[in-house]
Amino acid sequence: MKLPEVDRVLLTSEAIAARVREMGETLARDLARDLTAEGHGALDHPDRIVMVPIMTGAMVFAADLIRTMPIRISIRTVVVSSYPGASTTSKGAALRGALPDDLRGRHVVLVDDILDSGQTLGMLSRMIREQEPASVRVCVLLRKDVTRVEDIAADLVGFDIPDEFVVGYGLDYNGFYRNVPDIVALRGEHLDEPTAG
Ligand code: 5GP
Ligand code: MG
Repeated sequence: MKLPEVDRVLLTSEAIAARVREMGETLARDLARDLTAEGHGALDHPDRIVMVPIMTGAMVFAADLIRTMPIRISIRTVVVSSYPGASTTSKGAALRGALPDDLRGRHVVLVDDILDSGQTLGMLSRMIREQEPASVRVCVLLRKDVTRVEDIAADLVGFDIPDEFVVGYGLDYNGFYRNVPDIVALRGEHLDEPTAG
């Protein structure tokens, strides 16, 4: 896909695929260890592991990640919006729709595209912890080099990137570009708001 509005490619689809595979292997190994400690098998346990992808941005990442994990998992999606319309700065995270309500005692893996201000993952991990899960892990493909509004640590990170607005591989601008296979920066004149850096 050769889009004229792309300024530069930060991460190619090949680099992303290789890293996502590593992340899936690491995550599956860690979760399998938890299952073993409970006396369960990685493929034989009663819904102990719940992956929670944060829609819509984590859709592409989560779809690839889960297929690299050779263990039994279930999936509950949540919908959060923080960048309404043509926006390149977070307007604060808001939950749209329901949170899964059956996480008590389970191992929960929150999956998001990018850790930026930390408000999305901060809000969700707080709400999920209220249900007293056995564990909560935070897994993000990208982590931006910024001072976070909420001091939340990710357990597994794909790539650290500079403080720049990016799209592709699930990430959008104004609803578009999620299907771009690479992670790219757009030319400034294609963004309604000036970018942070
Ligand atoms: P936070 O709540 O940490 O500020 O932001 C998390 C959410 O904001 C991400 O799930 C993502 O949807 C959106 N976001 C943060 N930075 C970017 C970016 O550079 N590009 C796009 N497209 N979305 C971003
Ligand atoms: Mg998001």
